Amino acid sequence: MIANIKMVEELNKIFPLDERIKKAFIEIDRREFVPEGLLFDAYKIDSLPLTNDSTISSPLTVAKMTTYLEIDKKVDSVLEIGAGSGYQSAILSKLVRRVFAIERIKSLVEKSGKRFKKLKLYNINLKYGDGANGWENFAPFDRILFSATIDYLPNSILEQLSDRGVVVAPIKNGDREVITQFKKIDNRIIKRELETANFVPLKRGVE
Ligand code: SAH
Repeated sequence: MIANIKMVEELNKIFPLDERIKKAFIEIDRREFVPEGLLFDAYKIDSLPLTNDSTISSPLTVAKMTTYLEIDKKVDSVLEIGAGSGYQSAILSKLVRRVFAIERIKSLVEKSGKRFKKLKLYNINLKYGDGANGWENFAPFDRILFSATIDYLPNSILEQLSDRGVVVAPIKNGDREVITQFKKIDNRIIKRELETANFVPLKRGVE
């Protein structure tokens, strides 16, 4: 836990964290989400491999994506597409009332489900499936986060977003990916490109 606090201090120096986000990072020990063979690297500011098609994002990336979602006290629900290890969802679970998370690789869903139980994160609703078109049953969501790169933002996702909602997604642009924020205000979409990134690509179907 002390090593986790040190990691959060290091993060905060590189990318200043809002107090609530900082608290969430302190409460969620990154070690719990790292595969056993990589525990030595659990607190490094790096992404780590989970499977051929999945990585646990760098804590810096998680800090940025969380910040770009602009979560205030009024935000009730967040959907994460590409839950992977569950680390990002766990951080979000400390900031909002309900988290919905989808992952297409079964072994990862099983592992992250166990982690959420162990850490008593009962407000995360995790689903095994293809999340490319969101999760209609629980829509609308106040925030939607893509943790895998998409070519463009589908309309089905915007339809599942509340008014005044925010989507954050890495969007492919030639050979670059740009973290992009979309805000929906009175059915108008305001798009802001934030910075380049390096996520795994969104894939269709399940594994
Ligand atoms: N936030 C996660 C990131 C995992 S990497 C973490 O830090 O652990 C992105 C994840 O997106 C991968 O696990 C990959 O399997 C998943 N993914 C890719 N396409 C998907 C889709 N269509 N539906 C759901 N998950 C998907």
